[in-house]
Amino acid sequence: MSKKANTFQTPIGTRDLLPGESARWEAVVEVFSSVASRSGFALVDTPLFEDIGVFSRIGEGTDVVGKEMYEFHDRSERHMALRPEGTAAICRSFVQHRPPVPWKVYYRGPYFRYEAPQAGRFRQFHQFGIESIGSDDPDIDVEVIALGWNVLQSVGLKQVNLLLNSMGDANTRKQYQQSLGDFLEGRVLDLDEEDRSKVASHPLRVLDSKRRATQSVIAQAPLIEEFLDGDAKAHFERVQEGLNALNIPFTIEPKLVRGLDYYTHTTFEFQSQALESAQNTVCGGGRYNGLIEELGGPPTPGIGFGMGIERLLLACDAEGSFPDPPPKTQVWVVDVTDGSSARDLTQLLRADGVVADRSFDGRSMRSQIRSADRSGAQLALIIGEQELEEATISIRMLRDSAADQIVVPREEVVSQVRQLLGLDS
Ligand code: ATP
Ligand code: MG
Repeated sequence: MSKKANTFQTPIGTRDLLPGESARWEAVVEVFSSVASRSGFALVDTPLFEDIGVFSRIGEGTDVVGKEMYEFHDRSERHMALRPEGTAAICRSFVQHRPPVPWKVYYRGPYFRYEAPQAGRFRQFHQFGIESIGSDDPDIDVEVIALGWNVLQSVGLKQVNLLLNSMGDANTRKQYQQSLGDFLEGRVLDLDEEDRSKVASHPLRVLDSKRRATQSVIAQAPLIEEFLDGDAKAHFERVQEGLNALNIPFTIEPKLVRGLDYYTHTTFEFQSQALESAQNTVCGGGRYNGLIEELGGPPTPGIGFGMGIERLLLACDAEGSFPDPPPKTQVWVVDVTDGSSARDLTQLLRADGVVADRSFDGRSMRSQIRSADRSGAQLALIIGEQELEEATISIRMLRDSAADQIVVPREEVVSQVRQLLGLDS
């Protein structure tokens, strides 16, 4: 009996990013990085795994910590976790390095949650996000939300709603938690079974529930706005005033408490109306004025958001925006002699900033021209026996059927190519 070799697949909830889609992926990351750096945010890259304590601070009662964390003991019995989100790690980094404030940083990369995979929900997913640490100024809330808005605008999304809420301070939260807990206690049997156990210990988490029975109970729950004090109200009003001034439309959603425990004051989400409601949040964020202290730092306010890259691209697909970028290849070198010209010319062109490629394996002229066509290149540089002999190159305009093929001296080819591609203007 012949033994069949094992083949392997990507683990459940993960996927390969392949060449057909990776250019768009890179383009969307580039949009984000440039929007963020234009607003004075600088890249921070933290490890993919950390001491689990970094993340357990974000909320014992949350799904992210309770059910979804990829935790493991390393070979020295350290209790670690693959990072499930960005904010706690950035705050850990802030406490470790104590940079001057305001510390305005952005991040992008893979995050890990043990979730039930479905459209727009993966176990390894990707986020980009920003954090602005060190100031309580409500205008920073506006800057952060506006940055998220700018990213969504830059990828051409039109059907997004900004939902906004204020959680007040720790005291507000405590009082509201009490009142909400009492209310839910009285209706516990009407809640979805899955949510009942949260009522006593983490009533706020019940508000995040997407389960129908629970939703109809929380529609009647007390609202946090009744518990906001004067300072919290003033902060929230200034945020709204700023969004209005910048013409960023929003809806106040008093039940928006977000899935993590660290939020205070402003919380917000951008939701896509083009996606199913189970995964329509493309971006979520808010203020976390207690988190840095929890992580052993001095009391320091902060605000940020995380945006799901897969979700963002799904929303783009649903709206038909942000199409694949055009191919990058500009020049294809077609060498039907022994390949030496292709070898040398591609290198020369690339060194001069031209995106150049070629065929291998001594293919026929026809086959090489076909590859040139498929690559999206504007120009084919053709070297046959005659060109070789005369030290010339024939340049064919692949996208312009009216244009002739021109012949140029070999030593002028780079400058000719740059000119034809309009790289020097
Ligand atoms: P959801 O309610 O959809 O589970 P969340 O509140 O858990 O989202 P956050 O922790 O705020 O999400 O993460 C920020 C963003 O990251 C989300 O708005 C979403 O776009 C994306 N995201 C979160 N979890 C996943 C996942 N498992 N797969 C893909 N994207 C995700
Ligand atoms: Mg979640």
